[in-house]
Amino acid sequence: MTFKQPLVLPPGVDASHFEAYLEAVTEVIGSENVTVITSEDVLDKESYLDPSKAHDMFNVFDKDYFIASAVVAPRKVTDVQAIMRLCNEFKVPVWPFSIGRNVGYGGAAPRVPGSIGLDMGRNMNKVLEVSEQNAYCLLEPGVTYQDLYDHLVEKKLNDKLWIDVPDLGGGSVLGNCIERGVGYTPYGDHFMMHCGMEIVLPSGELVRTGMGAMPNPSASSADGTVDEQPGNRCWQLFNYGYGPYHDGIFSQSNYGVVVKMGMWLMPNPGGFQPYLITFERDEDLPQIVERIRQLRLAMVLMNVPSIRHILLDAAVMGTKRSYKDVNRPLTEEELVQIQNQLGIGRWNFYGALYGPEVMRNAQWEVIKGTFGQIPGSKFFWPEEGKKSPGVLDIRAKTFAGIPSTDELKWVDWLPNGAHLFFSPISEITGDAANLQYSITKKRVLEAGFDFIGTFTIGMREMHHIVCLVFDRKDTEQRNRVHNLIRTLIQDCAAHGWGEYRTHLALMDQIAGTYSWNDHALLKFSETLKNAIDPNGILAPGKNGVWPSSYSKSEWQLTAASSLQRRC
Ligand code: ADP
Repeated sequence: MTFKQPLVLPPGVDASHFEAYLEAVTEVIGSENVTVITSEDVLDKESYLDPSKAHDMFNVFDKDYFIASAVVAPRKVTDVQAIMRLCNEFKVPVWPFSIGRNVGYGGAAPRVPGSIGLDMGRNMNKVLEVSEQNAYCLLEPGVTYQDLYDHLVEKKLNDKLWIDVPDLGGGSVLGNCIERGVGYTPYGDHFMMHCGMEIVLPSGELVRTGMGAMPNPSASSADGTVDEQPGNRCWQLFNYGYGPYHDGIFSQSNYGVVVKMGMWLMPNPGGFQPYLITFERDEDLPQIVERIRQLRLAMVLMNVPSIRHILLDAAVMGTKRSYKDVNRPLTEEELVQIQNQLGIGRWNFYGALYGPEVMRNAQWEVIKGTFGQIPGSKFFWPEEGKKSPGVLDIRAKTFAGIPSTDELKWVDWLPNGAHLFFSPISEITGDAANLQYSITKKRVLEAGFDFIGTFTIGMREMHHIVCLVFDRKDTEQRNRVHNLIRTLIQDCAAHGWGEYRTHLALMDQIAGTYSWNDHALLKFSETLKNAIDPNGILAPGKNGVWPSSYSKSEWQLTAASSLQRRC
């Protein structure tokens, strides 16, 4: 079999070696599951609804920098094991992804140009189990939030078991969880709610974590393969098992390919009421946040609520041009006009009450009493047959665990809209929120963009998500947004704030900011990497962790990196 030359070869691999590798992989999974990225056509994919499996659709670098040489799609766990062994044999880097809708963070694209993309979602997309009694599911990587929801509807379980969805419902449940993504119900911290993993290590060995390491005495599978055998009876019930707890090291990491994962589902709470509270003034932010902390820590706020800046809602409801056709950031007066036009606040707090009516009424009284002390606050519930203010109707679905893609619209704020997320963690205090907001807003405006952001409130912290929208076809804007995010990372680090997740282009910089005690944590991650993956084949450079087979100083991307660094 002859393969066409890819646009980009893996580093240090010549065409004949690459071809030999692909031949060996094709023998395992069949040619229908091997795609060489040979032409620019694939780079035209730009839609979340039909995402690229080979490059970053929201590119800050040139489109053909973060790009795979070929995409291979295993059909089952033993295929993943065989592919890992071949990657070791041929010394070819491989980048796993589940769906590739990780937009804003790099999508399906690999960190090292020319890596093999390991498409875990194309064939391995089954809901393996749903336990109604114990409220959990066991999933393969290709199951999206929408798939899981459809499955529950089909099995008539959606009234009994709720899922927790992020803003967009097209991504992989497993992929989002191991990237430590969040949703908005009481089960919003996805990694906290996972239970049990099955992982192919870079060597090809297969492990189950937690109680999954106990064999199931009655286990046997049709073809005798270990991966098909049912798990231990408590695998999806108790996370920690016995001995060191390993699950965390398989999140945001390059230590293994996750092939199965358990997730807890929320039993129908017996009642639900979404709400919106609007606040008029920019300077209300600290007062809102101080009140939120008290109620969140006391669990009166049971779910993950969010405080959204006016322009995030405005961008879901229209394009920038539809409000004001200008090529500069909107002014304070223009923001007030938009607020008045949309009938919402400068800050819009979306939350939901869960539980039987008597519980909800009690919670609502406390919430109303607490936020009602802020002058100008207004309270809304969706009303039958009426369109709700802001994005309350969309949030109502999300708070009930119903997947949607409505929030995609804010990316079209600018023509050819793409976005990068800047996502620092903040304390839930008025002072911290205010300082982080003023630092980021100032830089965003200086760079000529509009501030679009939201604070998502966890158990003890807030994820401050700043949405940096830019025109992907405008090279000058791309450069500007790239410099902006690098400055934001520096500014926040100078105040002791780090980001929880990032785009491929910024992974090294952010890893560098987690530097306590002479980068002890990163050194420990590298030690683990070299032990688990001595050939450095699995996702080299992910989250700034480079194996020793790569020269870190050559591979690290910095502000000075040229826009296109071919290997
Ligand atoms: P989404 O679920 O939002 O579509 P992706 O599938 O793109 O997200 O996954 C996001 C990132 O998570 C990937 O780039 C990769 O680093 C990691 N990842 C996803 N799935 C797996 C997996 N099965 N095993 C290991 N890492 C994975």
